[in-house]
Amino acid sequence: MSVGLRAPRGDTSDVAITHLRNYIDGKWVDGSSGESFENLDPANGEIIATVTKSTTADVDAAVDAARRALDAWRKFPAPKRGEILYRAAEIMLRRKEELAREMTREMGKVVAEARGDVQEGIDMTYYMAGEGRRQFGDVVPAELPNKWAMSVRHPIGVIAAITPWNFPFAIPTWKIMPAVILGNTVVFKPASYTPMLAVRLVEILEEAGLPKGVLNLVLGGGGDIGDHLVQHPGVDMVSFTGSTETGAHINQIAAPSLKRVSFELGGKNAILVMDDADVDLSLEGIVWSAFGTTGQRCTAASRVIAHRGVADQLTDKLVERVRKLRLGHGLEPTTDVGPVVSKAQVEKVASFMPIAEKEGAVIAIGGKRPSTGALAKGFFHEPTVLVDVKPNMRVAQEEIFGPVTAIIEVGSLDEAIGVLNSVKYGLSSSIYTRDVNKAFRFMRDAETGIVYVNAGTIGAEIQLPFGGMKATGNGHREAGRAGLDTFSEWKSIYVDFSGKLQRAQIDTNNG
Ligand code: NDP
Repeated sequence: MSVGLRAPRGDTSDVAITHLRNYIDGKWVDGSSGESFENLDPANGEIIATVTKSTTADVDAAVDAARRALDAWRKFPAPKRGEILYRAAEIMLRRKEELAREMTREMGKVVAEARGDVQEGIDMTYYMAGEGRRQFGDVVPAELPNKWAMSVRHPIGVIAAITPWNFPFAIPTWKIMPAVILGNTVVFKPASYTPMLAVRLVEILEEAGLPKGVLNLVLGGGGDIGDHLVQHPGVDMVSFTGSTETGAHINQIAAPSLKRVSFELGGKNAILVMDDADVDLSLEGIVWSAFGTTGQRCTAASRVIAHRGVADQLTDKLVERVRKLRLGHGLEPTTDVGPVVSKAQVEKVASFMPIAEKEGAVIAIGGKRPSTGALAKGFFHEPTVLVDVKPNMRVAQEEIFGPVTAIIEVGSLDEAIGVLNSVKYGLSSSIYTRDVNKAFRFMRDAETGIVYVNAGTIGAEIQLPFGGMKATGNGHREAGRAGLDTFSEWKSIYVDFSGKLQRAQIDTNNG
């Protein structure tokens, strides 16, 4: 069975089961284990694909292919690399609807949001295609006569791109597009819950003309092949998005070799609502940021820090809004909130309910898993609002990664910013206020890599840096110009055309 075989368009009932394979050195191949695992629709448990299970030998083959391709690819003119990316973006546009529908089946997000995920990948691909003709360095004056000083970007080498399931198309493009435009080659290990969208992305780059070996795909469990990939001497950099625990583990095992590592890890993001805010507007931002993608965005608003002056009104209105949210399959037009990605993840979300209550929080709405009807077949959890939450409670400190938000009351902007910054993470935050002075104090003092004013915590655009402070990462950023810094080394070049020895810092002072 060919991996290129695509499921037909249409509703969920007419989708054929596909077999997904690795892509190594320009060929679609099964893993050497000869075994497969299943790819499930989280809304109903149906099998949508079988997936080849890779071994460490397959990782070796992928890394070898990437290393062999590296020298020719880094010398391939960057504008020509850009043309391949431009073609890839055009193919993505053509296939957008089909990709979005497959994504909904594979990981559950409602199809409108799945379209947004694909669009983000398209945006990133066009953006990085343009970098084929930019990648600006500096040309600066030299301090000595007849000397030239400039800087250029140099590829890091073979990049291991390890990605999560919550943005199965966009996040891989954040890594693969900057990596390849800069002349790196890639071994891509997507999350086991979302191999299909990974295969689609590779198919698209293959069709766009990416030479063999530049991008290689290995499918399989992080626990089986992850450590081997991270520690492989042929891998020069690991770019990882996922849980803080796995990130910390990768950091440790990659350290002895001093290879580059870049991380985008968890978040415990918050929306601040001040007593002068437009409460109805903040409500829109809270519902969208807390329950969009079923709360499974690293930027999801899992805390609402509300000024006492508006907290009761906001809570009442939020509970009424949440009561109207409809759970269901993400392909159904009536659905507002889809399933959680997996059984393990929905059980993790549910486990926080007794934790919250034991610590004194109250479930204002939601809090349960549907146990009857069609929803009982999937991994659903009711959208949930917790009240009477104190800043030090576990539900106010830990990433839940599901449709749950916690309202914390405060008495001032200073207290609100203190609560915002009291968590170990630092990804996204927002404030609703009509007071420009409060907005600017917040913009200055929030310890998060992304800050919004009068908007929710989600909705980053690809032309600005994306990433977080504190335990959310290790200082790198993806997207925008900063994304180029993550996937390249700077090389400073001095050309002396004086024909004699000129000593910097010494001969300059001789008058
Ligand atoms: P993981 O960190 O377990 O997985 C992320 C990626 O890392 C997957 O591709 C996974 O593969 C891979 N991986 C797992 N173990 C290793 C390893 N030892 N070496 C190399 N790669 C490895 O996150 P999950 O997807 O299981 O999600 C769990 C939690 O992570 C969530 O509850 C949430 O808190 C957080 N998360 C944060 C995200 C973010 O964007 N910040 C995104 C997704 C999750 P495999 O899938 O095969 O296990």
